Amino acid sequence: MTEFEAVAAADGHAMGEAFIFRHDEMVVPHFHVKKDGVEDEISALRASFASVRGYCSDQLGKAVSDSERALYSVQILMIDDPEWLQAIEGYIKKDLYNAAWAVECATSDIVAALSSVEDEYMKERIIDIVDIQKAVTEELTGKARRHIRLVRDVVLVADNLLTSELLALEGIQHLKAICLDAGGKTSHVSILAKSWGIPAVVGLKDFSLQVKEGECIIVDGYEGRVMASPGKKQIAGYGKRKQEQEAEEARLIRNAELLARTADGVRIVLEANVEDRLGIGDAIKAGCEGIGLFRTEFLEMKYGATEDFSVREGLYDEIASSMLGHGGVTFRTLDIGGDKFINGLSGQEDNPLLGWRAVRFCLDRKDIFKSQIISILKASRHGNVRMMFPMISTVEELESCLLLLDEAKKELGKKRIPFDPKMKVGTMIEVPSAALISDTLASMVDFVSIGTNDLVQYVLAVDRGNEKISHLYRADNPAVLRLVKMVVDNCHDKKIPVGICGQIASEVDMLPLLVGFGCDSLSMPPLSVGRIKERLGTLSKPDCENLLNNVLSMNSHERVAEMLKEFNNGRKT
Ligand code: PEP
Ligand code: MG
Repeated sequence: MTEFEAVAAADGHAMGEAFIFRHDEMVVPHFHVKKDGVEDEISALRASFASVRGYCSDQLGKAVSDSERALYSVQILMIDDPEWLQAIEGYIKKDLYNAAWAVECATSDIVAALSSVEDEYMKERIIDIVDIQKAVTEELTGKARRHIRLVRDVVLVADNLLTSELLALEGIQHLKAICLDAGGKTSHVSILAKSWGIPAVVGLKDFSLQVKEGECIIVDGYEGRVMASPGKKQIAGYGKRKQEQEAEEARLIRNAELLARTADGVRIVLEANVEDRLGIGDAIKAGCEGIGLFRTEFLEMKYGATEDFSVREGLYDEIASSMLGHGGVTFRTLDIGGDKFINGLSGQEDNPLLGWRAVRFCLDRKDIFKSQIISILKASRHGNVRMMFPMISTVEELESCLLLLDEAKKELGKKRIPFDPKMKVGTMIEVPSAALISDTLASMVDFVSIGTNDLVQYVLAVDRGNEKISHLYRADNPAVLRLVKMVVDNCHDKKIPVGICGQIASEVDMLPLLVGFGCDSLSMPPLSVGRIKERLGTLSKPDCENLLNNVLSMNSHERVAEMLKEFNNGRKT
């Protein structure tokens, strides 16, 4: 058994076979297998050879030229050569090399032998054999996969994962957990995993190079721990923890009916963060009082809504009508760029998180932006729709967004298309400049939602998805806390409601500070609502304010963390 520890990105326990998915240049992993693992290694080797042979014979069938036909015929002959396979298996059986390493060694032997012969034709075969070695190694290490298609229950182990790759994954019901070498707890892949209730551990550095396809993996998404090839004792421990998790989830769901308030009766509206129409059922079941953040860009990525506006309008309509009587929905306008891309729209940039993202993109592509605003307005006829703009960093940006909204309203009015003229409009505060001018921004809108996932990244200059600096990504940094407090106070001075929709809204240990800030609402993944509601009921507002005042006088996050821990351990009410 080997144990790895990294960032706990999405709660839950899971166990399954590793399914490896890698993007980077091919790296041949070198490790020794145990004697009782030799059979498995040889089966994996033969399966890879069979897969590469299948590919070559497909290509042979489709070949249009003689040279192509010659190429694939020779490659098939080589793959069928029993001596090569025997030599590879020899390295596995005698030297206990893993399959990819054994392929590398046996291929080097052949290349060395071929290099010394006079015959030019034989020398040219070096290219073919190295080509096959590459294809077999890609199969063995998961590098051959361009698309994730799951046909049995697995733990997905990847170097990194784009949100688009996760959304395009086929066989989601088989995805038991996610382990990534890269990423942080607020990367959008982690956010999706948390929202879907799939345990995830990220920032595992080179984990995907250390495990083998099919190896048994146990994932603890609460503690950020992963075990490869666990023994009987660890498997038994996992079974027990999984049972406890299920019992706890069943208990927490009973909180759905309870009103969210502190022990001294202060109400805080608990809403849901949702990324897909499929998440609405979870939000309602969890007893959320509305959707506080609908990340619409995921709908565009998954359903191709940018190409077909009628698809988008159908989805918004379905979402708004499903939320009737359940607190309604806040559609956030497109936040693409950063770590979310829609093919052909927002391209590659050197610095995407500081680049052409969210309203910066939308205000340049007003055709797309206005069409989305119109779709949201149309859905607003149900009367329970709100809209908000992400990544606002200047007053001028917010003005331009509001101007476009006015234009869209006029267009709909002229065409006599119904919409809610009183639809509430909000801005997100996710950029330090916006936080510092939040008094002005707050006076321009009906509500404010603080996106702490981005605010933390931009205040501290720490890429939220970079595992190398994840220790610096801290919402309890006093600089972040002071800024959040300032935004909440500015909004309250202007008498508008303010909430938090970043991941900290779902962190039980941070809750006393959020109550201390005086947030009117918190929006979080639906599965977190039960636990937050429970903890909220044990807190009193004056104690939380007192704690916050003490915390705000600190200068180091370590001191803040200690004070918070002390408070939480005492479970002070
Ligand atoms: C945030 O930044 O806190 C937020 C809610 O938006 P996202 O995570 O989608 O960037
Ligand atoms: Mg954000």
